[in-house]
Parts: sequence; structure tokens; C-alpha cells
Amino acid sequence: MSKKLEKKEEAPVAVPNKEEPKKAEEPEKVVEEKKPVKAAKPKAEKKHKEEKGARGLYKVEGDKVVPLRPACERCGIGYFMADHHDRYTCGHCGFTRYKQTEP
Ligand SMILES: [Zn+2]
Repeated sequence: MSKKLEKKEEAPVAVPNKEEPKKAEEPEKVVEEKKPVKAAKPKAEKKHKEEKGARGLYKVEGDKVVPLRPACERCGIGYFMADHHDRYTCGHCGFTRYKQTEP
């Protein structure tokens, strides 16, 4: 009666060698790799508000120029108020006027 010896295969455990022998390194030559020029992608249209400047604040009706937004009551003419869904706000002084909604 002979016992079969099971051959255990031990997986070689990779022991991370922490202490790496330092080589006398030669200064490597830095070679700048030229990156391949990528084909120009068609720019995806960004949803970005177009800056209209002062044009966005006025509307021309015939010969008249009508300001689209109310001016700030504190700051005076020239300080337009931001148009929110329920209010106008002055970005200069913080004045807020709520829109009067008719029932
Ligand atoms: Zn103001």
C-alpha cells in the first residue's frame, strides 16, 4: 500500500522586490516624441449663449429703441436687471423686483 503523494504545485509567489538595486543610470536623452496630429474633429455645437452685448438689451421697433429689461430703480438708467422667471434682479446692487403676475 503506497500512498500516492499528491504533488502540490506551489504557485510561485511574486515577492515585490522593494529594494531594487540602483543602477548607475546614464542620463537618458530626452527625446520629444512628436504626437501624431489628430484629425480635426468637427466641433460639437456648444449650447452657449451668444454674447449680444448691448444689442441683447434693446429691441428696435421701427425708429424706437425699447429696452427689454427694466432698469434698476436704485442704480438708475444703464443698470439693467436680470430677467428671472419670477423676478428682476439687479446684479449691481442686488435689488429685486418681483414680477407682478395677474391672477
Ligand atoms: Zn441696482
